[in-house]
Amino acid sequence: MTSILSRRRLLLTGAGIGAVTGLGVSRAAAQAPQAPCRVAVSAGINTGTYRFHIGDIRATIISDGTIAGNIRIYARDAEQAELDAVLGAAHLSQSQFPLQLNAMLLEQGSRRILIDPGANLAMGPNGGRLISRLADLGLAPGDIEAIVITHTHPDHVGNLRNQDGTAAFPKAGVYVPEPDWQFFYINEPDLSHLPMPRDFQERFIRNIKISLEAVAGNVIRYQPGREVLPGIMTVPAHGHTPGMSALLIASGGDQLMVTADLAYHPLLNIDQGWMPGVDIDGEAARQTRNRLFDRAAADNLLLFGFHFPFPGLGRLYRTGSGYRWLPQAWDFTG
Ligand SMILES: [Zn+2]
Repeated sequence: MTSILSRRRLLLTGAGIGAVTGLGVSRAAAQAPQAPCRVAVSAGINTGTYRFHIGDIRATIISDGTIAGNIRIYARDAEQAELDAVLGAAHLSQSQFPLQLNAMLLEQGSRRILIDPGANLAMGPNGGRLISRLADLGLAPGDIEAIVITHTHPDHVGNLRNQDGTAAFPKAGVYVPEPDWQFFYINEPDLSHLPMPRDFQERFIRNIKISLEAVAGNVIRYQPGREVLPGIMTVPAHGHTPGMSALLIASGGDQLMVTADLAYHPLLNIDQGWMPGVDIDGEAARQTRNRLFDRAAADNLLLFGFHFPFPGLGRLYRTGSGYRWLPQAWDFTG
């Protein structure tokens, strides 16, 4: 336990990762020295874990923390008057719109798998809770045998790397979509479409590269559309990134769809249908979203959103003009 806590302290105080920031982080916050995390990680309340089952699989949503950013990052094509009306009625900020970082742990027998482990400090000072939360569950990083990445944006891969550049989960094979590996890691990506300054884009890219570099020897690249592990099917979801993949997790007749970043927030990208500003191919992303949302509505699939209000579970249904989100009721049985 001591070693885990010591290691965690290293992660939380690391200035190396902090030099690279992601979506929605102010320049001042990005350039501030990394202070020790002030979160009472063992307080025992509001710790950010939620347990449920998918057939025989024990699933736990684990909050790595939160991020916040300008609303145009998350709702590119919204009319300003509509934004004012919708967010004003909901008393939500347009300059610091809040999103979650929901990682997922899957346990089946002795097999332990993480889905999109989260940002660590790559996206600002309010991430970086994952490893402490795993410790609360009695797990060390070495207990994780596989990690499935839906896409390689820094808020999803930042936790792959320790502050010293080593792999945070040393025994885990890391499944990465091949098109993202090529686009972000092998090549120099053009992210000039992003609604952020050039220096932000450079930090965004660098953070992806150093996170993937840390695990390069353990990466298993996959083409979206194939089963990467028993019961975990990847579903092509191109548009947000070149290789983004949704996931269908199935066991014993139950199914869960991991929606990755098809939508940032149900209010913005499901109920309103606004387009995320970070989609690299907006039209492809729109078609992907409609295809998978139609399937989810028709099959009444349980959905999980990485950035949705915690724990990110719910269903959607069709309306006359689009879709509407229904959060799943809290279940205390786990
Ligand atoms: Zn994301």
